[in-house]
Amino acid sequence: MSLVIDSLSKRFGRIQALDGLSLDIPAGHVFGFLGANGAGKTTTMRIALGVLRADAGTISWGGTDHRRLPRATWGYLPEERGLYAKMTVLDQLVFFARLQGVPADRARRTTLEWLERLRVPDFASRRADELSKGNQQKIQFLAAVLHDPEVLLMDEPFTGLDPVNVVLLREAILELRDRGKTIVLSTHQMETVEAMCESVAIVDRGRLVITGSLRDVKRSTGRQSVIISVEGDHRLEWLRGLPGVRVLRPGIERSELELEPDAEPDAILALAVAKGARVRHFEVADPSLEEVFIELVGRPVSVDTAPVEAGDPIPERAA
Ligand code: ATP
Repeated sequence: MSLVIDSLSKRFGRIQALDGLSLDIPAGHVFGFLGANGAGKTTTMRIALGVLRADAGTISWGGTDHRRLPRATWGYLPEERGLYAKMTVLDQLVFFARLQGVPADRARRTTLEWLERLRVPDFASRRADELSKGNQQKIQFLAAVLHDPEVLLMDEPFTGLDPVNVVLLREAILELRDRGKTIVLSTHQMETVEAMCESVAIVDRGRLVITGSLRDVKRSTGRQSVIISVEGDHRLEWLRGLPGVRVLRPGIERSELELEPDAEPDAILALAVAKGARVRHFEVADPSLEEVFIELVGRPVSVDTAPVEAGDPIPERAA
């Protein structure tokens, strides 16, 4: 069983939003659907839901074309949030669940259970416009899951949430995964992806750049990282001049070094010993997903950057 996207294309005027995108998303996984702004992630989700029509290509779930699946197969948390401002949280969540075919009494019971689960039982009687943005987002998340969909499409679910709510939402998503749901998570927060996703895809300008298990994708560039801690020395001046090694993230306690594919971690350790540095921690690690993303897509991930439209030139890859 899997969610299969096959040769999906979609054009908006002169913008080719999707350009033959193919993906195989395993059932029961949290799948990280990653790409720079304008890469085509939201467009893909909207096609799956039937909000947009593809120019070419197909989407199927468990072998059934998405156009023949009931809408309730999907749970969708859109990037643009939309709640009824004047309606109470309970009333609107029950309303959304009923739209997906959930009987009224069950919709009410499940809503109250979920509000409890997200530690906001008192929101039931509050109007949406009385809630903060982050809390409205939690309510929108509930609107996506109350009808117990098989596949959850989540577009930037963590944006604007405080750290406690990020943890709550992460736990809720992982719990849904453990109950067999398939979760497609589009986010620019690479640490969240590393913490939650078994497998990922990186898309760029509507095309697949890479897909696979998180581990394989992280190893795909051949680069390695070294985490090092040297007692009484956080400047690591002695590292200068060692070919293929650079300090990626300097730190007082620990620093992260980036190694070119042909650089040897042992050479760093040998040099440290030769220079009399007192190494307290030395760890060879895979590069972070953010580094891999920058290397493959050519520009840093930033939730604050202006949207990059498909068709804009991509900066040269870092050497
Ligand atoms: P982001 O990370 O910024 O949310 P995304 O990967 O979700 O980006 P999409 O929203 O799918 O990207 O957009 C893909 C491209 O298609 C962009 O260039 C966008 O401007 C364009 N696009 C999307 N929807 C429309 C539309 N309705 N009309 C015209 N262009 C559109």
